[in-house]
Parts: sequence; structure tokens; C-alpha cells
Amino acid sequence: MHGFHGRLLHIDLNSGTASWHELQESRLRAFLGGIGLGTSLLYEYAPPGVEPFSPANPLIFTSAPLVGTGLTTTAKFAVVTKSPLTGFIADSLSSSYFALELKRIGLDGLVITGRSPAMTYLFIHNEHVEIRRADHLTGKSPGETESLIRSELNSSSVRVAAIGKGGENRVRFATISNEGRHAGRGGVGAVMGSKNLKAIALCGNRESRVADPKGVEAIADSLRQRSLGSLTDKYRSIGTVANLAVFNRLGSLPARNFQQSTFDDAEALSGETLTENNFSRRHGCASCTIRCERLFKSLNGEEQRLEYETLFALGPLCGIKDPEVVLRAAHLCDFYGLDTISTGGTLSWAMECSEKGLLPEANKLGLRFGQPDAFLAAIPAVAQREGLGALLAEGSRRAALELGSRSSYWAMHVKGLELPGYEPRSLKTMALGLAVSPRGACHNRSGAYEADFSGEVDRLRADPRRGSLVAASEDFAAVLDSLIICKFLRKCFSDFYGEGAELLSNVSGWNCSSTELRRIGERIHTLKKLFNVREGWQPDDDWLPQRLLSEVLPTGVARGTGLTSSELREMIQGYYKAREWTEKGFVPRKKLQELGL
Ligand code: SF4
Repeated sequence: MHGFHGRLLHIDLNSGTASWHELQESRLRAFLGGIGLGTSLLYEYAPPGVEPFSPANPLIFTSAPLVGTGLTTTAKFAVVTKSPLTGFIADSLSSSYFALELKRIGLDGLVITGRSPAMTYLFIHNEHVEIRRADHLTGKSPGETESLIRSELNSSSVRVAAIGKGGENRVRFATISNEGRHAGRGGVGAVMGSKNLKAIALCGNRESRVADPKGVEAIADSLRQRSLGSLTDKYRSIGTVANLAVFNRLGSLPARNFQQSTFDDAEALSGETLTENNFSRRHGCASCTIRCERLFKSLNGEEQRLEYETLFALGPLCGIKDPEVVLRAAHLCDFYGLDTISTGGTLSWAMECSEKGLLPEANKLGLRFGQPDAFLAAIPAVAQREGLGALLAEGSRRAALELGSRSSYWAMHVKGLELPGYEPRSLKTMALGLAVSPRGACHNRSGAYEADFSGEVDRLRADPRRGSLVAASEDFAAVLDSLIICKFLRKCFSDFYGEGAELLSNVSGWNCSSTELRRIGERIHTLKKLFNVREGWQPDDDWLPQRLLSEVLPTGVARGTGLTSSELREMIQGYYKAREWTEKGFVPRKKLQELGL
């Protein structure tokens, strides 16, 4: 087989056993790798209705056909499981050398089930699997864990993915981190912690072959050239932190728990200001020519990675205007292994409840918008589930249900996943994308904001015809996430499906057409939906927080703009129609047959 190894490794931590299984070529062709293969394995390995923290909930790592080909931006892997935050699918991506090593183990998928009796880590060296004690790693950050394991194994070539205290304590938005990057959203780290699994260390030397090396190299070369042109300027010059000033200008920057879509102190936090005052160095994932990452230096000399979502969530969303505080908060989230978006989203919920008199405990701690000390103190408390942190570790939806009263009104989530930094009221296509996304409020599985920002549509007006744009964007993302190609390369393709199909054909030896690739995207997205339906999805789950449907934007160029329930309902209907689903959003049998599901 070319481009794949055609097998998966299943490790059962209950029995401490490992077994290898064949992966049929037909399945790989239907779902590719990454998120697609991960979704297919989740559907097979997760018992229907499984509790996310049950030992039976599988934690799945997948590689992909383009990994290891040298093609720019493709050193990525996926982590898929049932989310403890949403109860639906959690599908996260992370990057860099761990991704390359996962493929070099000689597998396409790693499925972990069960729970170790004590804290352990896995060492996988080609076919050889060891389950090792990790008591001495308990409480360590992912970065510390990585260094300790590498010195323990006496190998600099070992690559490690680990959880921090957040994952150990089952904080429902804990990450799995490797080399400073994170499988961030949906609580995959909490599932790993529930298995008493601190880390996975990999070392392999199995090369995967491609069918047409010259053909692959020709496309790789051309994409490499294009990746250095104007289409990726933003990512190469300032990085994604450049979004903050632009979004503020467009009235699309969520601030103070979505009370506003502009932030008075945006200039102090803008990418331009950060670059001028705090820039330390540029960095990138393995095999990447774009290198979008930026490390910034704080006053105490610490280097911290920062991208737009972290900057927005730990800055304007919480009313924080001091870049030093944002850098410190980002450092704490990375140290404890917490998703920065959900951390910011949950803390800003607590701040608003505190200010509205619903959460006296938070008020006593001084947890209010723009107050740095209580904000910084709350992050370790969440990771350790101490005091108020125990409530906040549940995420905004559960915390609000527990607190009761009117607090759910201020919990800004979809399906339990906190909203990213795109204001839905001034980005109406994105509003629909966020409402219907299978993993909850997500800017990565739907790039619907692109239609809004490009001017292709009137971003301030709701329109039932947006459904087809959202569906196309989801299918496109599903293909990118399964091949895997970084989304920041997407604009470098002139005809993505045509070039992508040629690339896949050259790698795999299949004769794949652009129509087939499109269909694969639709199949993967539909399977995510099927998984959610199996786990209890109901039409009400495709919706937005009530605040967004009740209040108009008070400031900025989008001032006075709102979104009504009936507008959202009409857009959702348009989306179901575009997908050829039923009026209530279920997938009819005919569609399933058409997609081979
Ligand atoms: S563009 Fe950025 S996120 Fe994408 S692969 Fe390169 S460094 Fe990683």
C-alpha cells in the first residue's frame, strides 16, 4: 500500500495488551486519514452511549497519507474521542515532529481503550509497546514531561505527547500537548487523564512509500513556492495575531463575554503592538515553509507562543488589556494543559456572573472583567480543581447548569464548546457554521467566516441561502483535515479538489478524481453527524447562545446589528436543505446509501 501502512495498533490499558490490526484499503480510500479515519474508528470502537470518562471510550490518534511526504504544512496528526465537554465528537489536530514519528511507527491509527490502575506512559518503538510507570511524572507540565521522558529513554529522537495537571484532573477542556503545540479543543486531554495515561512516547523507523515520487515532488515543489508568496503574507509577516486589529475594525472581535464586538484597548493588544514590543522569534511546525508561529517575550524574559484565538480569549473576552497578563495567562494554560479558548470562555462567564451578583464566590475573589490578579489566580485553580476552580473545570455549560438561576444566559457555547473569536452577529455565515458544527462552536471545522470576510456575501445580513456555503466549507475542511494539510495553505491551491486529487493519486496510486475527493469530504462530515445522532443529538443542539439572539451589538461599525431566532432558524433550514437532510436535521437513508455509509 502506498501513502499508508494499512494497519492500526490497539492498546488496551485494562489488560495491558497491544494488538495490531489490518486496515482495509477500501476504508482508507473512503475516509483517508486524520479526522476522517479517526471518525470512522470512533464510530466502530466507541460503544453507543459510552460515558466520555469511561475506560471504554476510545482515545484515537491517527496519521494521514500526506504525513512524511515532505509536502509543506503536512506534519500533523489527529486525536478523536467522545468529548467530555459536549458528549459528541471531539476531533482535534496537532502538528510537528510527533506527527512524523507517529507515521514512522508504521501505523495509520492508534486506538487506546481501558484505564491503567496507576499513572503510566506508553513507549512505542516500532512494533514494541511498553506500558511504563509514570508516578514520577504526575503533576508535571507537558513540556517537563517531554524532557523527563526523553532523558529517561536516553534518546533525543523520541517524540512525546503529554497532558498536564488539567488532563490529570479531568478538566473538561484539557489539552494533549507536544513540542509546545496542542490538540486543544473538546477535552481530549481529560479523556487521556481518565485513562491514567500521562504521555505517549514514540520512536520509529518505518518509512511509508508513495506511488509516484516524482509526481509528488513536482506538486510539493510548486506548493512550496506558492506558500512563500502573497497568499500567505499575513501568516508569515505578523502571524494570526494580526487578526485582532482587523476584527476590531470590522466589529467582529468578541469582548467581555460577547457583550461587545469591539474592544477599547485593542491597540494595546494588537499583533502590530505585540510585534513591536514583545517579539522574540518566528517558529513553525516541522516541514512547514509558512512558519506562522510567533513567540513573544514577557517582561520576565519568558518566551510564549501566541496566536489570535489565545490572544482574543485571554484578552478582550475577559476584558484584559495588558499584553503581559495575556502572555502570562497563555503560559499558565500551556503549563497546565488547558484549552485557551474554553479557559477564556469559562472565566469570562464567571466574571459576568460575578458582576451580575450570581456568583458571590467569584466576586469575593475579585474575578471581574479586566482584573488581572484574580484572572491569573483562577487558571491554576481550574487545573487543580481547587475552590471555585472545581466548578469552572466543568466548562461554562455545566457550570451554568450547576449554578442555575439565569446564569445559562451568559454561557457562550454551542453544544458545550465555548465560542471562538468570531462575533456571530456581524458574521452571519459564520453564525450558521458555529450553530451546526458537529464538534460545537468551532472555527476550524467550518471556515464559513471566509464568505463573510471576503465580501462574497453581506456579512451583516442573515440569508437562508448561506446553507450551501457552510456545507461546502465543512466538506472542504474535512478533506484538509484528513489528508492532512494545514488550513493556512488553503489559498495556495488554485483548484483545491483538482490538485488535491492529483496529489492523493500520486501518493496512494489510486486514480482519484476531484469528484471523489469532494464526496469523501461530505462522507466524513456526515459520519461525524451520524456519530452525534447516535450519541443523542437533537435538533435543539444546532443553535446559538440566547444572548446572541436577544441583544444587538452596542459598538463599532456593526452597531445595532443583531440576529433573531427566526433568522437563525431559516438559515439552519437552508443548511439542512443544502445537505439534503430532513427538515429536523437527520440524515435520510437515501443520503447514507449515496455516501456508502
Ligand atoms: S502554517 Fe503554522 S500551523 Fe500551519 S503547519 Fe505551518 S507553522 Fe504549523
